[in-house]
Amino acid sequence: IKKIGVLTSGGDAPGMNAAIRAVVRSCAYHGVGCAGIFRGYQGLIENDIEDLDARSVRNIISRGGTFLKSARSNEFKTPEGRKKAYDNLKAAGVDALIVIGGDGTFTGGLLFEKEHDFPVVGIPATIDNDISGTDFTIGYDTALNTVVEAIDKIRDTASSHNRLFLVEVMGRDAGAIALNSGIGAGAEEILIPEEDEGIDRLISSLKKSEKSGKTSSIIVVAEGDKSGKNIFELAEFIDSTLGGYDIRVSVLGHIQRGGSPSCFDRVLASKLGVGAVDAVLDGKRNIMIGIHHQKVITVSLETGIKGEDKFDRDLRRVADITSI
Ligand code: ATP
Repeated sequence: IKKIGVLTSGGDAPGMNAAIRAVVRSCAYHGVGCAGIFRGYQGLIENDIEDLDARSVRNIISRGGTFLKSARSNEFKTPEGRKKAYDNLKAAGVDALIVIGGDGTFTGGLLFEKEHDFPVVGIPATIDNDISGTDFTIGYDTALNTVVEAIDKIRDTASSHNRLFLVEVMGRDAGAIALNSGIGAGAEEILIPEEDEGIDRLISSLKKSEKSGKTSSIIVVAEGDKSGKNIFELAEFIDSTLGGYDIRVSVLGHIQRGGSPSCFDRVLASKLGVGAVDAVLDGKRNIMIGIHHQKVITVSLETGIKGEDKFDRDLRRVADITSI
């Protein structure tokens, strides 16, 4: 291996910069070249490639987002697009590719690897923590801290006015952000996509809270929850079913993706970046680097894409007990 390419793709996540930095510096450490590919697979197709050295990544470990930029590329979903990408990598002298992103990024990487017999190693980075084969993805811890901080602020205003706040958090089909931030911020109820008893739970929980003398409530709702109602319809439903509440809705949105990465995410990204370069140099391919019980591990890209249910049932019990 003479030169390793690195790109970020799909939704951005805090800590991607720290992962790029670790990859670039690991290449420098081992004396192999490193090429930064801008704008993900689309930039690869458009030959937006630049050589990077250890100094190219100074002062980025603390910055959110990704300095290589990210993009979604429909062209990479076609064999013609992937052929262009392959030709550009060859012309740049790149002989292995490290892709930092989520399951879509890995799906594209796997196809590319099979079609062109080109080594691809994935690093899981998404705030949703919905990648199988790793305990944590880069960006998840930072997003949790951002959400908890936001809900703490909402609680201040909720308790000053005896209000019921519905707070929508990200996570697509995974309730990890909702469940963990809900516990961390002391939410009264948490609606997650992994369960579909949402509305009934919510109504009975609100009735109980009222009886037990709670004066303000925070309900955390995952964006993919199974209530079949969006958060505004949910607020109307509670109002028409129970009445008597001053209900407010807050959709946290993209602030959850931004911000300086937490120390946990910086260290995780550094470990996974170093692990990815080690794996490439060991001749491993078609794999994703993950973390399990604090140790860096490798699993197949197929495992990462599977998206198996990581829902922690014990955590739901903790939420139920602590919100009594
Ligand atoms: P996030 O989890 O944050 O959304 P992601 O990596 O899953 O990140 P996607 O937009 O799903 O984000 O995928 C990123 C890119 O990977 C796509 O824009 C596309 O270029 C490529 N990709 C996704 N699915 C495929 C596929 N089936 N075939 C080829 N390329 C794909």
